[in-house]
Parts: sequence; structure tokens; C-alpha cells
Amino acid sequence: MSSDVMISIRNLKMEYLVREGTIKAVDNIDLDIYRHEITGIVGESGSGKTSLIETILRILPRNARIRSGKVILRTNRGDEIDLMSLSEETMRRIRGRVIGYVPQGSQTSLNPVQNIRQHFIETLKDHGIHDEKTIEESYEKLKIVGLEPSSVLSKFPHELSGGMKQRVVISLTMALNPEIIVLDEPTSALDIFSQRILLNILDNIREKFRTTMILITHDLPVVAELADRVAVLYAGKIVEYGSFRDIFEKPLHPYTQMLIRSIPSITNFYTKSIPKPIPGEPPSLLNPPPGCRFNPRCPFTREICVREDPPMIEVEKGHYVKCWLYARK
Ligand code: ATP
Ligand code: MG
Repeated sequence: MSSDVMISIRNLKMEYLVREGTIKAVDNIDLDIYRHEITGIVGESGSGKTSLIETILRILPRNARIRSGKVILRTNRGDEIDLMSLSEETMRRIRGRVIGYVPQGSQTSLNPVQNIRQHFIETLKDHGIHDEKTIEESYEKLKIVGLEPSSVLSKFPHELSGGMKQRVVISLTMALNPEIIVLDEPTSALDIFSQRILLNILDNIREKFRTTMILITHDLPVVAELADRVAVLYAGKIVEYGSFRDIFEKPLHPYTQMLIRSIPSITNFYTKSIPKPIPGEPPSLLNPPPGCRFNPRCPFTREICVREDPPMIEVEKGHYVKCWLYARK
């Protein structure tokens, strides 16, 4: 494993058991997360973004089953550990201390009867930190997200705007000094103004602390703005992965190409054309189509696309695509 890689995911497969069968939400995912970079994971609603993160962190609901895979974490100290085979107790330490998680919709996760100071105290105590001085110092983390501790610490969640609550949650995550932060749809519930502030804050965190980040979103412009590398998720599978430039300037997968062409602000900037929506619907993960899961919506579908799932091919160094257009068969 290259020392630049912080998390290496191989062959990761997770399914939900439901009355009608199994939902293949994370289907043989391979992905490398590079240290000090922002990796964007982008996909439509229901493509499995949250499922992938909950699998990595092992915080899945009871009907979920991890079928295979390794998630090797290489800590700053150089230790390599497989998150899938750790004890629950060790995993609990890793969550928070090594991997900070800002879940989808987390601004609603603040406790309405506790002020922000109590949130910091609880967060640190949950991770075994009771030392007053360390707790006092953790309040400074509010400054990273543009909030003044003296004015915010005594406030209750209902006294803060949605954008401020989201920023408080990020500073609580930062309070444990994690090596990597995972943010699931951090901008979705925010108005355009608060989104802009948040994107600047994340950019600052990257600059100042060189914190590794995984940024999950359905919103391609958010990824375009921040990500160093991008993975495109479609129906539980990664269909393309590469540097920011690979994905936005030389997209290879028909789905990535159509996704980029469907976003007005991006089409204006990159392709100078009129945005075109992607025809059709994402497939059901209960009965996904055979072969490539994008085949029912793809303009280039051939016989093999319906018959066989394409392999992931490294077309250029670091630029991967899972499509028969680029494979030899
Ligand atoms: P969104 O952008 O809406 O947050 P997502 O990309 O995060 O979507 P997931 O929430 O991971 O997608 O869902 C992936 C698939 O798994 C969907 O088909 C969803 O209906 C299904 N799913 C999610 N949670 C469960 C569950 N607890 N039981 C059964 N199916 C589930
Ligand atoms: Mg989600």
C-alpha cells in the first residue's frame, strides 16, 4: 500500500436484507483515499453513498450484512489495520479519534436541551477525555469554522441558524483531532449563502490542517469546487475514479459525461453548452439490471453490456473507468 494512501478499500460488498430480497447497496467497491486530499464521492440519491460510509465505519442498521472486503487504514504513525476485522471496542476508538464523521442531516443531531459548551464536554467525555484543560482548548475549534467561542458556547441549538449548527457539528468533530473527516451531504440542507461559507471553511481546514477529507454529495458543483480526486458512484458501484481534472475535463464513463452535461453551472463553465438531463431512472438495487447497471440508460449499450459486468480499467495513470467501451473482450 502506497504511503500516500490513507484508506484502501478492496472488494467491499454490503447488502440490506428486506422482505422482498437483498438490496445490493455497496457492490464490490475498490477505492483509495489519499492523505491530505479531499476525495469527493458523488452519486444520485439512492446510489449508496451513505451505505458505503456506514459500511466503512461499521455503523450499519441491523438488517445490513457485510459480505466481503477489506478496509485498510494506514494511520499517521504508519500502522496498517483492517477496519473490517477490528473488535467493536477498538472500532469505537477509531471512530471520532481517527475518523471524524459528520453524518447526513447532522445539524439536527444537536441535543436541544444542551448548550454548545455541554456538547463539547460530552463529545470529549464520550472518548475518555475528562481533563479540564484539554476540554477548554477544544472550544478553540469553533474558530476554525468561523464562530467565536465566547458568543456561541452558551447558546442552545435553537438559537443558531442551520448553517451555524452545521459548523458547530464540524467543530465538534474537529475537537478530537481526527486524521480524516467524512462529511455526508454537508451542504444539502443549507441555503446558497450558508453553502458558500461552508465550502470556504472546508477549504480553509484543508489549507491549514491538511486534514484528509471524504466529501459525499449528490451535488457535482460542490465536488468541482473542492475535491482533489473524485469517485462517481452509480447504483452501488464506482463507475469512474480519477483526479479532479480527469473527471471534469476528460470524463470517460457515459454516466459521468451525462452527469456533467446535466448541471447548468458546470456546463456553462466546462462545455459551454445547454444542460441536458439524464434520461430514465436509476435502477432498483433489489433487482439491478444484469451486466453493467447503467446499460438501460446508456446510449452506447452493446450486447456485452447487458450480459457481463465490465471490469474496472486504468485507462491512464490513476484514472479508472468501469465500462466496456474501454475494455478488450
Ligand atoms: P441519498 O443521496 O438520498 O442520501 P445515498 O446515495 O446515500 O442516497 P443510501 O442511503 O446509501 O443512498 O441508499 C442506497 C440504497 O440502499 C437505496 O436503494 C436505499 O433505499 C437502500 N437502503 C438504505 N438504507 C436501508 C435500510 N436500512 N434497509 C433497506 N434498504 C436500505
Ligand atoms: Mg445518503
